[in-house]
Amino acid sequence: MTTLHSRAGAIPLEGLPITPEQQERLSHTLRCVPADHLRSLQRIVIRDRQVRDSRSGEMREYAGGSTNATQRGWRDLSPHSRRFWIMIDIDSFDPRQRPINNRPSGKHYTLLHELGHLVDWSYGALSWIMRNDAEGFRLLARQPHNGITGGTQERFADAYADLYFHPPERTRDDPRIRCILQSPPFRTAWTPHTGIAV
Ligand SMILES: [Zn+2]
Repeated sequence: MTTLHSRAGAIPLEGLPITPEQQERLSHTLRCVPADHLRSLQRIVIRDRQVRDSRSGEMREYAGGSTNATQRGWRDLSPHSRRFWIMIDIDSFDPRQRPINNRPSGKHYTLLHELGHLVDWSYGALSWIMRNDAEGFRLLARQPHNGITGGTQERFADAYADLYFHPPERTRDDPRIRCILQSPPFRTAWTPHTGIAV
């Protein structure tokens, strides 16, 4: 079995084969986030999906990802049980389609975005923000998102990805980042802003 290395131990990698360099990019990305944020991640699966283009109506390669619950009744499972898996489309490694996943930093932005969904759902982060930080929620909701899916959940996932993708100088004064950092997933977790790896 192929596994990826993270601060939370080995994460199984399944589906289509990818190159050692692509595997290392996923492992490096997993190592950029704190162990606590990976405790509900069961596995990562590589697929080759297509989507229908909304303008032309033709099928085209999809170069994104998705986060999925592993079984029915997942809401009843304890917060840290491995109840989610992430699908990454193989075309997300294509430098022409997704230059952001091919930068010298070695990170895969799409995987960070999917981890944002997993962290949001594992901790109930966005619903916490909605209840406790109306101004932060408003700031998140109005941010544009480049993807086929919409909604404030996508903005949370983008803010999460930006936090771990960019150097801390770039995100320190970003009000979206300040907003998500107040929410439950970050109470005890390491971030680039605290600088202390756990
Ligand atoms: Zn998303």
